[in-house]
Amino acid sequence: MITLNDNVNILPGVGPKRLDALHEIGIFTIEDLINYFPFRYEDLGERLPSETLDGEKATFKGIVSTPAVVTRFGKRSQTRFGLMIEHENVRVSFFNQPWIAQNVEVGQEVAVYGTYDAAKASLTGMKVISKASNEFDPIYPSSKQISAKTIRHLIEIAWADVRGTVGSLVPDKIRQKYRLLDRNTQIENMHFPADMEQAKLARRSIAFEEFFIFQMRLQLLKLADKNFSGEGINYDSKALNKFEAGLPFTLTGAQQKVVSEILTDQKRPVHMNRLLQGDVGSGKTVVAAIALYAVVTAGMQAALMAPTEILAQQHAINLALMFEKSGVDIRIELLTSGMKAAARRQLLEDLADGTIDILVGTHALLQPDVMFHHLGLAVIDEQHRFGVNQRAKLRENGVNPDILAMTATPIPRTLSITTYGEMDVSIIDQLPNGRKQIQTRKISHNQLDSAINFLKQQLSEGAQAYVVTPLIEESEALDVQNAQAMYEALQLELPNDTIGLLHGRLSNDEKKALMADFKRNKIQVLVATTVIEVGVDVPNASIMLIMDADRFGLAQLHQLRGRVGRGTRQSYTILVADPKTDYGRARLDAMVETTDGFILAQKDLELRGSGDILGTKQSGVPEFAVGDPIKDLKMMEVAQQEAISMVSTDDWDKSSENQELVDYLSRTMAHYRHLD
Ligand code: ADP
Ligand code: MG
Repeated sequence: MITLNDNVNILPGVGPKRLDALHEIGIFTIEDLINYFPFRYEDLGERLPSETLDGEKATFKGIVSTPAVVTRFGKRSQTRFGLMIEHENVRVSFFNQPWIAQNVEVGQEVAVYGTYDAAKASLTGMKVISKASNEFDPIYPSSKQISAKTIRHLIEIAWADVRGTVGSLVPDKIRQKYRLLDRNTQIENMHFPADMEQAKLARRSIAFEEFFIFQMRLQLLKLADKNFSGEGINYDSKALNKFEAGLPFTLTGAQQKVVSEILTDQKRPVHMNRLLQGDVGSGKTVVAAIALYAVVTAGMQAALMAPTEILAQQHAINLALMFEKSGVDIRIELLTSGMKAAARRQLLEDLADGTIDILVGTHALLQPDVMFHHLGLAVIDEQHRFGVNQRAKLRENGVNPDILAMTATPIPRTLSITTYGEMDVSIIDQLPNGRKQIQTRKISHNQLDSAINFLKQQLSEGAQAYVVTPLIEESEALDVQNAQAMYEALQLELPNDTIGLLHGRLSNDEKKALMADFKRNKIQVLVATTVIEVGVDVPNASIMLIMDADRFGLAQLHQLRGRVGRGTRQSYTILVADPKTDYGRARLDAMVETTDGFILAQKDLELRGSGDILGTKQSGVPEFAVGDPIKDLKMMEVAQQEAISMVSTDDWDKSSENQELVDYLSRTMAHYRHLD
């Protein structure tokens, strides 16, 4: 008698080679095997030719109208006969199955499964179906080493023994509420459906089960997280108020709201894991500054991690200025990859003994020798630029600090309840007052002259400008050349202004000096490759001219545009392009139509087709065997709600109804630690 926990090698015909092949596709135990599901069914159910598309596979049932004729060409053969289906005659032909001729007679009723050619009214037969009516062939994902047929066969053998012994993971109450099948039935109907409808219902139940298990894990992680580092940040409210009062502006309502969400989290003796989302220019930095300072007032240290050195440098400078202006005396340091060994050693010493209050840097902060005295908070800027692993790594460093991740990218619902499902989310849904709407225009290359004239006039009124040249993927050299050429051309065109050139080949010190000069208005026009894409903040810069704008993605264009419109000047974004594709044109049109990041993100999904980005690994959407978190979003939401209410019920894990679930979750613990 085979049981669920048995190794698959207990099955007849599974030797070392087959066992390897099974392991390869993730099947170790009998339980794994019976949970290895078909990804589709070949519908052998009969249809009429008029209901069948050209090239589609279908089963036609009819009366044999002409005798079967076999033509042989050497070893190969073709068998042909006519099939009358209602009043339509279809020519059927089989290749290399000459014996079929012996089994069909004129006047006999047969059903043939094959590929339909509508123009020729012919069917290339694959098999003759004996018991005509609804039949299905489940198709299993297979590999070179093991065929779908073998998998199917093994499942049949195993299922004969274990059917009826599979306990349900989704508790009865929930199953009844959503009319879900029990686990035995859902597995049986997945492998051996009587009809398409049955397979569909089984699939629905299994998808829910997958989602529910996934959400249970997320919620348990979240819970474990909260119970883990029980450090409350006992910040000094008075000092914080004083800092806020010293800022050159008052916080928007949206900023106040998220600040209070964050501070509340910080104060509680639980671990914070929060995502702060706010469109470009919505003022996330100052929110971060308050959270960072709160930690410092409690006598701890804080870290701010940015995706690029430029941005890290800028953050270090801005924070220092912000605190200085508010009369706050704390020590902020920048850790860069290009530091001299002695300086780095000193900095690490000061960090380890707690002299440094806030450390800013890139992922260089994650190096193992970077040890804090008492790290209370890590802020991650432009978090979408970092992998999940880097997020996890930061948390491994020393104590488990509170995490505040910031992003300008709106999080589609699917991601927010899967990939970011263990995080709490705060949203800044308002831009600071007094911002003028950025005007966006698209022009073609032959209108560049008028754009330059416009630029001249704006510069004469005291504005500053970015001119962005496109990143040429194939060649960094070309990339720099391109920017260099633009730089030289503008020097000729704009003799009264100082032009700067910023690109990826410059050293960090050179970049830093250029940005500082631009910020101090010693440079009026900054020609740059996309290195300036994220985060850069120079409020007096009000013009963003983007060359070959159709080479950029929508998210990138939106980020670039977000570099202007930060001060009181009317700002402009000029997109120079002659797009050759509809997709290119559509992106530019979208940019002209709206400045709302959320609308653009949706638009981006539509334009790319959700399959492209969301279906792939880079999107960060987890993959499931059966359920599709994009298509079945609603179901994922329901699963989330049920999981939340489950884990918040007292002693849910002691109740006998949930025992299968609890066992399963603890058995599969190792599989989901990667989410952490
Ligand atoms: P982002 O959310 O894109 O990181 P920043 O934090 O860089 O935005 O802020 C954009 C600009 O808006 C900065 O110049 C910042 O000083 C300014 N700013 C932030 N909050 C306010 C506010 N409440 N009122 C006015 N200006 C603000
Ligand atoms: Mg920012």
